[in-house]
Amino acid sequence: MTRRIAVVGAGMAAARFAHTFHALGGDADITLYGAEPRAPYNRVLLAEVLTGRYDAAAIALPHGAATVRTGAEVTAVDPAGRTLRLADGGGARYDTLVLATGAEPVEPEVRGLRGPDGARPAGVHTLRTVADCRRLAEDAVRARRAVVVGGGVLGVSTARALAALGLPVEIAHRAPHLVERHLDGQAAAVLGRGLAGLGVGVRLGAEAVALRVAGPGTVPEAGTGAEDGTAPGAESGRATARVTGVELADGRALDADLVVLACGVRPRTALARAAGLPVATGVVVDDTLSCAPGVHALGDCAEHRGTVPGLAAPAWEQADVLAARLSGADPGARYAGWHPFSRLTAGPLEYAAFGDPGEDGPGLDVLRLADATRGSYKKLVLRGDRLVGGILLGDLATVGALTRAYERGDPLPEGPLHLLTAQGATR
Ligand SMILES: Cc1cc2nc3c(=O)[nH]c(=O)nc-3n(C[C@H](O)[C@H](O)[C@H](O)COP(=O)(O)OP(=O)(O)OC[C@H]3O[C@@H](n4cnc5c(N)ncnc54)[C@H](O)[C@@H]3O)c2cc1C
Repeated sequence: MTRRIAVVGAGMAAARFAHTFHALGGDADITLYGAEPRAPYNRVLLAEVLTGRYDAAAIALPHGAATVRTGAEVTAVDPAGRTLRLADGGGARYDTLVLATGAEPVEPEVRGLRGPDGARPAGVHTLRTVADCRRLAEDAVRARRAVVVGGGVLGVSTARALAALGLPVEIAHRAPHLVERHLDGQAAAVLGRGLAGLGVGVRLGAEAVALRVAGPGTVPEAGTGAEDGTAPGAESGRATARVTGVELADGRALDADLVVLACGVRPRTALARAAGLPVATGVVVDDTLSCAPGVHALGDCAEHRGTVPGLAAPAWEQADVLAARLSGADPGARYAGWHPFSRLTAGPLEYAAFGDPGEDGPGLDVLRLADATRGSYKKLVLRGDRLVGGILLGDLATVGALTRAYERGDPLPEGPLHLLTAQGATR
């Protein structure tokens, strides 16, 4: 009998795994069980779906010859018996299990976020799925003023997308500068100026502590509520309060009838935990991406060597390694870990940051080039002749050459300032 591989989750990691497995000539019946009502799609492009640049159908991802079961939430897995159960009461047997359950938005601890019935006030959103995106787009049409809580990558790209729809938008970010996980203060300041030019205001050191709400009143239908199987919150048409603003820790308040919470994500691990699989922050996997005999985990739900990147590139690298192993194309393939790399494209604003682009340390040399007129900023951090980190903002011409040198640990040529110009990097 053909081997059965069950993949829980039909997101970016799952699709990549199935696609690569079949492309490598693997022979197995792969089934992707996805809680969302649609086949795999590129979540990274959701902000562009929000702006209307892409239709949701245009961001579909290939998934090889796998069977995709949409609207099929897996409620339990039994690694010993090699069976799984579905929310609709059905079940299935498998030979190999791959957990690719992704992550879910973290809700900040702010007063007023949940009403007595547990629902969020109308006008308060998170963005993780096409269904979220649809609800947000519908609400944005009626809104007058938006606040995005959180100035990380997701907050920045969502704020830019809302501004592109013509809404006045402010980001309330509690850290001293934007995207502090990836950027230094100078780069973040350049990004902030770019955002201002696109109609996005930025409040720094601005910790949201409460939502102001008015009502309750009847909330008009916006979208289809729990289309993606998540809690419908206030957008499902029931009587509830509507958000009117965001209160900050310092006593200031920002008016808003649309609030997007972009406060990070948390790996979805409930299924693995209930099945007795090892879970720390994510489902703990080794270099073979295994967490128990016959069970693997990939992508945003997986923790490898203490790291949960929460980004698409490592999810795809892991999927490729597991596909090589399970297809037999390279049974000894191992996942060696993630080289930190993040990239944001938000309309005309873009950056790439890799390695440790933090400030000076012993034995480190830092090169910087800033061009205020062009809105660009470039920084390289070197240890001797090796690149250990960098930021390219506003001009990514050299990104390919630099990230290759960083990932391979190649020695750099003399005169590293040349690496910050396109000619130098292609030498
Ligand atoms: C708006 C947005 C912008 C982003 N931008 C970037 C970016 O610029 N760069 C970048 O690198 N990353 C970005 N990301 C992150 C990137 O999308 C994720 O890293 C990537 O999707 C991880 O893939 P995954 O398959 O692990 O998880 P997901 O793509 O989230 O897929 C997991 C799927 O599993 C399903 N699922 C969960 N539990 C169950 C269950 N029990 N039964 C059935 N199905 C289940 C979920 O419904 C979901 O569809 C962005 C994310 C968002 C939301």
